[in-house]
This record gives sequence, C-alpha cells and structure tokens, in this order.
Amino acid sequence: MAKKKAVHKKVSKPGMAGKGKAAPVRRSAGSQDPLIAPMKGATSREIGHVQLEVARAGTARVKRMIYPTGFRWSVDMKPVVGTALCMHAHVGFLARGEIHIGYADGCVVEYKAPQVVAIDPGHDGWVVGKAPAVLIEFDFEGDTVNRLGMPRAHRHS
Ligand SMILES: [Zn+2]
Repeated sequence: MAKKKAVHKKVSKPGMAGKGKAAPVRRSAGSQDPLIAPMKGATSREIGHVQLEVARAGTARVKRMIYPTGFRWSVDMKPVVGTALCMHAHVGFLARGEIHIGYADGCVVEYKAPQVVAIDPGHDGWVVGKAPAVLIEFDFEGDTVNRLGMPRAHRHS
C-alpha cells in the first residue's frame, strides 16, 4: 500500500550562504569516529602494536588503548615488557570490540563492549573478532592496584 510520499524539504547548507568562497574547513577529524580519532591534549604512542593516548587528570591517568585485530599480549607485548604475564591491573570501560583475559589458573574472562572491565594482575589477553578493541582505562601508574583497590593477583574469594 502506497504511503504518502515524503515531502521534499529544502535543506539549508550552512556555510554556503553569502560569500562566494567557501571556508577552507576541511578537517578530516570532523568526519572521523571520535572513539579512534586523534585526541587533543593527550600524549600519543604505540607500544606492542597498541595505539595508546594518555592524559593526566588529577593524580590519575586516563588512557585510550586501541588494540588491533589479532592482538595477543603474550605475542605482541610480552617481548616489550619482559614478564611472563601482564602484571598490571586494568580498570576501565571497553567501548568497542571484544577481549578475552586468560589467568594463570586457567580462568578465561570474556569482555564485550560496552562493558566495564576490572582485570587482575597476572594475565594474558587477546582481541576476539574482526574489530579492534577500544579500551578507556584509568590508572595511577605504579600505585594502581592500591588506589583502585584491586587484588594483587587473580584469586577466587
Ligand atoms: Zn581464576
């Protein structure tokens, strides 16, 4: 059954009015996904194939980690860090993608965006699926476990 045809609305084009010359605002960032776009006010670096942006907030650090498809801590990061497992605690928000965390006792914890993550020290971790994982993380550098009240190692209470 035919419904009423949509009314053709006149779409105004902001920025095109008036002056003959269009303003040279051709920012690629404007059309980019803000979850992975370049971040203002953050220090940017790459470590173990992870794209990392860090900014300070009070005594904490806020980090955006972009883990590529196929990333595995024990393959990509272990050679850089030098420990058998990742000994950091990770607290934050998984904004995109899926990661699985494997502990020394065989436990595997699966996180899929959108989800809050709380990962104990002493783990491997890997990206699952075809999308890079984007994790927004909060830490206190060497004092993260204490300040966030995380266990020193993975355990079952
Ligand atoms: Zn366990």
